[in-house]
Amino acid sequence: MNNKTPVLYIVIPCYNEQEVLPQTAPMFLQKLCQLINEKKIDEKSRILFVNDGSKDNTWEIIKKLSEQNPYYQGIAQSRNRGHQNAVLAGLMTAMNHCDITISIDCDGQDDINAMDDMVDAYNNEGCEIVYGVRSSRESDTFFKRFTAEGFYKFMNVMGAEVVFNHADYRLISSRALHELSEFKEVNIFLRGMVPLVGFKSTSVYYVRHERLAGESHYPLKKMLALAFDGITSLSIKPIRIITVLGMFITLISFIGILWSVISALIGSTVAGWASMTCIICFVCGIQAVFLGIIGEYIGKIYLEVKGRPRYIISESTDELK
Ligand code: UDP
Ligand code: MG
Repeated sequence: MNNKTPVLYIVIPCYNEQEVLPQTAPMFLQKLCQLINEKKIDEKSRILFVNDGSKDNTWEIIKKLSEQNPYYQGIAQSRNRGHQNAVLAGLMTAMNHCDITISIDCDGQDDINAMDDMVDAYNNEGCEIVYGVRSSRESDTFFKRFTAEGFYKFMNVMGAEVVFNHADYRLISSRALHELSEFKEVNIFLRGMVPLVGFKSTSVYYVRHERLAGESHYPLKKMLALAFDGITSLSIKPIRIITVLGMFITLISFIGILWSVISALIGSTVAGWASMTCIICFVCGIQAVFLGIIGEYIGKIYLEVKGRPRYIISESTDELK
């Protein structure tokens, strides 16, 4: 489908990875050279490391690598901004120099051989986005597997649609990246935003390995923070839930009012109880509904301030090109 051999940039976020980087950098290079030799990607393809404000020698290692071999390139963020921002910084830098990007973690957990299938999906089928999906999590502990899979399910229930078991290992064409750059929001959750860009996409499956060295930077606490960020930046469903809950509380309050009035009429209450109960029920119900309504407007404002594109055109007939 895509006739030209694409220039590929492999984008790799790195935070305090001095133990693992010397091991994995040659692996990425080997993969890049293999793809170039097979004429699947262009000679101008590169490996782009993004140093995310590491406190160890990561940046020094990246600089040394780029001196040794021009296939290695690096950029450094002024301080640690987190994985998502590091990936975005790399993708936005790469998109002006290449046709396709593949983002991957630097710890060797994601199988680099899946890149072959990703590039094939772009070259042969014209897929602009190819998601790397973990086919199994056997190398993860039961706890990590349980929490991680729960993460994807919970996200979907809360209205933040993400590709199940897909992290940030994916191919995106520079064309799709230019559209993604129009999403002006600051709270970014790429896993949820990339599907919103649209275009022809597919998934490739791979087995996730264990980290080659160093430690995970995503303990449960950070994963919960990521889920919270993902939900609140993608969906206003929590506000909807408050509105519906408000209506439910109002209904219960109404029943409470009826009950207290009937009890008072029967005469089974002390003086003042029924009127107090009525007031409490009324105020509770009305407050819950009002909060929901205000929330709906805040939700709308939230969606507006993101300034997301209202449409993205993927194809047009000759005359309109
Ligand atoms: N990372 C980053 N900034 C951070 C935390 C992590 O750039 O603040 C990078 C890290 O170097 C790695 C990737 O994000 O390449 C994924 O992190 P990690 O392997 O620790 O997460 P896990 O695979 O355990 O979920
Ligand atoms: Mg990892």
